[in-house]
Amino acid sequence: MSTRSEQSAVTVLGLGPMGRALAGAFLDAGLRTTVWNRTPGRDRELVERGAVGARSVEEAVAASALTVICVVNYDAADAIVRRDAVTDALKGRTLVNLTADTPDRARDTAAWAAGHGIRYLDGAIMTPTTTIGTPDAVFIHSGPEELYREHRPVLDALGGTHTHLGEEIGRAAAYDIALLDIFWTAMAGYAHALAVARAEGVTARELAPFAQGIGAILPPIFEGLAEEVDSGSFSGDGNPITSAVSSMAHIVHTSEAHGIDAGVMRAAEGMARRVIGLGHGTDGFIRVAEVLGRR
Ligand code: NDP
Repeated sequence: MSTRSEQSAVTVLGLGPMGRALAGAFLDAGLRTTVWNRTPGRDRELVERGAVGARSVEEAVAASALTVICVVNYDAADAIVRRDAVTDALKGRTLVNLTADTPDRARDTAAWAAGHGIRYLDGAIMTPTTTIGTPDAVFIHSGPEELYREHRPVLDALGGTHTHLGEEIGRAAAYDIALLDIFWTAMAGYAHALAVARAEGVTARELAPFAQGIGAILPPIFEGLAEEVDSGSFSGDGNPITSAVSSMAHIVHTSEAHGIDAGVMRAAEGMARRVIGLGHGTDGFIRVAEVLGRR
């Protein structure tokens, strides 16, 4: 289907901040890069740097053996690629979807691709736009391993580390969801902490070095708890959940005394109290993971 020059070329659909970063890294790596975006004009700087600005999606995908799509979600991705002219142009070529969405949407897209003779890999990007093209970028992928291997040389142009997580197409999205769960609940906690600190006369600047200290405690906790959780033991040695719940209650009281919504912390406290109510008060907080997963 594709010629030799198409093999060393890549198409990027979607030129938001991330799509532009991806296309920029491909260009920097010397690949012939074709770009397209729903709203015209977002390709200007890339075209000045040597990208080919396609006039239509079908023209864009026809230019390369590999198309990378990165837009806001799979509704947007579907609106772009699930049209007859585009589907026909993609037939026999590879689509790598680096858009973030749910594992089910990844599976649905893979089924659609298979039904139209489109080779499909799913993936996610775990680091900000500034990392793309640098060693700090982190990409995760899932889908047919042979297809991943075939396109790995082009994907490597994006820099950083690429990990193939398995053939099950929803796996990259599953990791993405779990990791974003950590990120957004942590950010919600940080935003709430800033509001409470401010109400107590503490600025974000003053809190920052200590906030970083709290953040640094987490990586070894993740590492240390992984085996406990996978083996179904949740020992609370040194920090039983009864102690954790007491510290959470202080946060709720302080927030609400200042008229600050404590919904996020109340949710965490509620989960901890449920664990205690089920008779696991001497376990550590991470017993919550097991209790939440009970049907
Ligand atoms: P956005 O998530 O805002 O996506 C913007 C892109 O989506 C634009 O190309 C926009 O086109 C397109 N788009 C939105 N709606 C539609 C639609 N209905 N039809 C067609 N195109 C549409 O910005 P990013 O580029 O930053 O993110 C892209 C993906 O990368 C997201 O899934 C995001 O979660 C992920 N990601 C982003 C990171 C970041 O740091 N920015 C980090 C890690 C992952 P238009 O210009 O026409 O509006």
